[in-house]
Amino acid sequence: MPVQSPIAISNRTIDHIDDADPLEYHGHWEPVGVARVYNTGTSAMVKFAKRKEQPFITGGGLGDDKYAFEQLHFHWADTDESGCEHTVEGVKYSMEAHAVHFNTKYANFDEAKNKPDGLAVVAFFIHASGDKDCPEFQKISEGIRNVQKINTSASLDSDCLSWIGLQELCKHYYTYKGSLTTAPYFESVTWIIYRAPIFVSMGQVNVFRNLQSCPKDETKKIVNNFREIQKPEKDPEITFARNAKPKSKL
Ligand SMILES: [Zn+2]
Repeated sequence: MPVQSPIAISNRTIDHIDDADPLEYHGHWEPVGVARVYNTGTSAMVKFAKRKEQPFITGGGLGDDKYAFEQLHFHWADTDESGCEHTVEGVKYSMEAHAVHFNTKYANFDEAKNKPDGLAVVAFFIHASGDKDCPEFQKISEGIRNVQKINTSASLDSDCLSWIGLQELCKHYYTYKGSLTTAPYFESVTWIIYRAPIFVSMGQVNVFRNLQSCPKDETKKIVNNFREIQKPEKDPEITFARNAKPKSKL
């Protein structure tokens, strides 16, 4: 049974898997088409356009289904000590990025969003540490500077998500069945949450706190756009891909 998200993950109650099918990423930082970043008033969101096929993920706990990229957005706080939605052993990171994908057996995101197998969201923890910028994250933090006004957008290089590849993507992620963390909270999400954070500089996180949240009041900024930890009555079934099977060669 799916639960409401986010949840506090504790390694004590988790099923460790040593022969997980490889989770595959296709096209997330390929230099094709164009990317745009948007200030939606509640978050910063990245989308791709002008490409034949959206990036997609398959394999792992998703089986043979193909989940196409819809958008990536961020959650953050007014301090570096919180901002993420999920926690692992109680640890909080400065940000959590959500790469939202929909099952391509449905026509589009809107048709998929309320189906039990409709969505797969990949979560990346991002932590502010020191003042040395993370080069791979620089295209995002530069783009964020250009969308400080609400409802504006700016173009980005199409490889602006290359920082995702800093993770060893085939393993060391948690999976459980949960929900969207924003209204209407559909329980349609297969969560894939990488255990290790990606470290960026404090400045690279701080630019997010300058995004305007209200068209009438320029002093109002987007901060603390994360949902509180949910406490399901019954413990959710969480698996951890400790190791993955080697990718079979055709
Ligand atoms: Zn989110």
